[in-house]
Amino acid sequence: MVTLATDLKALIAGAAGPLKSARGITTVGDLLAFYPTRYVTYDSDLAGLVEGHFVVVVGEVKSVQLRPMTARKGMMLNAILTDAAGNEVTMTFFNARGHENKLHPGVRVIAGGQVTRYKRTWQLAHPGYTLLSDLTEADQPGLYPLYPAVPKMHNWTLVSSVKLVLDAIGELPDPIPGDLRRRHGLPSLHAALTGLHRPDSHAHLEASRRRMQYAEALVLQTILARARRAREQESAQPRVVVDGAALGVFDGRLPFTLTDGQLAVAAEIADDLAGTHPMYRLLQGDVGSGKTVLALRAMLTAVDAGAQAALLAPTEVLAAQHHRTITTLLGDLATGGVLGGHEGGTKVVLLTGSLTQAERRRILLDIASGQAGIVVGTHALLQDKVSFADLALVVIDEQHRFGVEQRDVLRAKAATPPHVLVLTATPIPRTVAMTVFGDLDVSTLTELPAGRTPITTHVVDDRKPNWVARTWQRVAEECRAGKAAYVVCPRIGDETGADGGEDLDAEDLLFDLDPGLRPPAGVVATLAELRDDPALAGLRIECLHGRLPTEDKDALLAGFAAGDIDILVATTVIEVGVDVPRATVMVIRDADRFGVSQLHQLRGRVGRGSDPGLCLLMTAADPGPALRRLEAVAATTDGFVLARLDLEQRREGDVLGVHQSGGHRRLRFLSLVRHEELIAAARADAATMIADDPDLERQPVLRAAAEQWLEPEVAEFLEKG
Ligand code: ADP
Ligand code: MG
Repeated sequence: MVTLATDLKALIAGAAGPLKSARGITTVGDLLAFYPTRYVTYDSDLAGLVEGHFVVVVGEVKSVQLRPMTARKGMMLNAILTDAAGNEVTMTFFNARGHENKLHPGVRVIAGGQVTRYKRTWQLAHPGYTLLSDLTEADQPGLYPLYPAVPKMHNWTLVSSVKLVLDAIGELPDPIPGDLRRRHGLPSLHAALTGLHRPDSHAHLEASRRRMQYAEALVLQTILARARRAREQESAQPRVVVDGAALGVFDGRLPFTLTDGQLAVAAEIADDLAGTHPMYRLLQGDVGSGKTVLALRAMLTAVDAGAQAALLAPTEVLAAQHHRTITTLLGDLATGGVLGGHEGGTKVVLLTGSLTQAERRRILLDIASGQAGIVVGTHALLQDKVSFADLALVVIDEQHRFGVEQRDVLRAKAATPPHVLVLTATPIPRTVAMTVFGDLDVSTLTELPAGRTPITTHVVDDRKPNWVARTWQRVAEECRAGKAAYVVCPRIGDETGADGGEDLDAEDLLFDLDPGLRPPAGVVATLAELRDDPALAGLRIECLHGRLPTEDKDALLAGFAAGDIDILVATTVIEVGVDVPRATVMVIRDADRFGVSQLHQLRGRVGRGSDPGLCLLMTAADPGPALRRLEAVAATTDGFVLARLDLEQRREGDVLGVHQSGGHRRLRFLSLVRHEELIAAARADAATMIADDPDLERQPVLRAAAEQWLEPEVAEFLEKG
C-alpha cells in the first residue's frame, strides 16, 4: 500500500533521482508537499504573448524546418505552432537532436518556455513540450502547474510523477476532524492535494488552498489552546485590591482621569490578579497610550496585598527611566519604610548590572526581606542571588527582547507562579497577536488620552541643501523656544571596529545596505556637523549611544529631560519608552534604513507633552519602495495601520520566526495578514475541541500534526513570541 512514507523510487523510478539530489524529496509525502508555485491555462492566447514571460501554450504544429547551422555543426529545428485563431509562435531548438521525429505537421503539443522576440516572430527557445496524443484526457489537469525548478527534470515529468502518486495513494489521514471539515465545507486532504497539483479550475484551486490554510491555522491554534489550558491548570495566589491602601491613594492623586479604554483594561487586570490562576496578559497600546500607569496600578495592587512586583526592562536606560517615572508618580508612596514616609507606601528599588557591591547588597536585602515592594531592573533581576520575599506580579516591558528562559527564571523566583503582564508599544495586528501571543490574553489601548497634540511628519530630501538647511532651522527655532530635539542616526560611526549593539543591528535594520551606497549617517559625525552649523550656534548638543557607560547615558538623559541639553544626537538606544515631554522635534537621518514600526517607535518620542510634535524623516532614497515606506509613515500616526504595513513588507516567516526547517516551512498557505477570519474561526474551533478533549485523544492525526510542529525551534519561538 502506498502511504506518505513510501519511497518514491518504488513508484517513479528514474524521476526520483533528480528530486532527491536537487530538492531532498524522497517520499510520497515530500513530493506531495512540493507545491506548484504558479498555474497557467492551456488556452494561453498566442496573440497575447509578452517578451520574457514563461508561458505554457497548446497549439498545432503547422510547419517544421530543419536546417544546418551556419556557425557550427549540427541541425537547427524550427517548428511553428498555431492556435485556432492562426496566431503563431516558433519552437526553436539549436540542436534538433531527434525532435524532428516527434514534431510533425498536424500534431498537437503542449509546450512551455520563455518567450523571446526574434525578427518580428515570437519564439520559445528550447521549450519543454509533450505531444497531446501521448496524454489521455485524464492526464491533463485543468490548470497546468509550474513547479519550482528541479535541475535535470522537466516540469512535465513532475506533473506526471505527482499524478502517478496521487492515483496510487488512497484517502489520507486528515488532521482536520470530519465535523469541522463538513462545517466549513472543506475538501479532504487527498482532494485538496489533488486540487493543488492538478486543479480543474481556479475555483478548485482556491477551495484546496483554503483547506490548507485552515489546516495550518487549526494546528497552530490547537497548540496554543493546549498551552493556554496548561496555564489555566496552574494555580496562583489571588491578589485583591484593598480599599484605601496605596492604590486608592495613588488613584486619588492622579492629575488626570483614566480614559475609558484604560479603565476597561484596568478592570481586566484587576480581575486577573484576583483570580486563582496566574494572569498572563499582553497589554498593547501605541506609544503614549498610557500603559505605564496601568502597569503601576497593577504593581500597587500587589503591594497592597502585602506582596511584591517586579518590572523587567530591556535596557539599563529604560530601567532607570521606569524607576524615575515610578518614584515620581508615586511621590511619598515610594518612601515606604522610611521615617516620615507614607504608611501604605513601599520602597522602590532599581537593580541593574552597574551597581557598586555595597549598593547591590543593600538592594538584594530589600528584595529578599520584602521591604522593596516594587523592584525595577534589567536582566540583572534574573540572577541567582536575587530572591524575593513574595513575588506576586512580573511586568515585562517589551517582551520581544526577553526569551522564554528568562520569563521562566523570574517565575521560578516566586513560591506560586506569579501573575505576568507584558507591555508592548509595538502594535501587533490582531491575527499576529492571536497567533504569536495565542496563549496570552490580549488587552489593547486603542485611543490616546485626550489633549495630545498630533505629530506632523515630513519626508526631507537629504540631497537638497536648502531642505536640509530648513530642517536645522526648524530644530533651532524649537530649541530657542525652550523645547528640545532628538537627531537619530542609524549607527554610531566612531570606527572603533566592531559595531555596538544598536549599530546596524540586523533585526532593526531590515533593509540591507547597498555596498555601493555611502555609509549611513553616524552619531559621531553628525554631532560634529551640528556643532559646526551656524544655524545651531549657542545650542547645547550632546550625543547618546549604547557604547557609553551607563552613568553617562543616565546623566545625558537626565540632562536632556531637565533642559540642560537642547539637541540629543542618538542611535536607536532611545527607541523604546524614553519619555521626555519637552522634546518636540525628532529628526531621523537616513530614515530609509529603518523599518516602518521602528520609525513609528522613534517618532513616538516626541509629542509627549502639550506642544505639537514634529518628525522629519531625512533620506537620500530615490523614488521606490523605500521612499514609499517613509511616505506611508508620514501619512498616518496609527500604529496599527503601520504595523500591518510592516508585516506585509516582511516575509511572514520572518515575523513568525518560522524559517526553513528541514526543508519545510510550517506556514505555507496561511497569511497572518490576509486570513484574519480564518484564524479567528480556527481559534474558536480549537478552543471548543480542547475544552472537550484536552489531550486530543479522539484526534490522533491532529495531535501528531501539532507535535510535529513543536519541534524545538518552533516551540521556542511560540513561547518567546
Ligand atoms: P505608554 O507607556 O503607553 O507609552 P505612558 O503610560 O508613559 O504611555 O503615558 C504617556 C504619558 O501620558 C505619561 O506622561 C502619562 O502620565 C500620561 N497619561 C497616561 N494616561 C493618561 C490619561 N488618561 N490622561 C492624560 N494623560 C495620561
Ligand atoms: Mg511607557
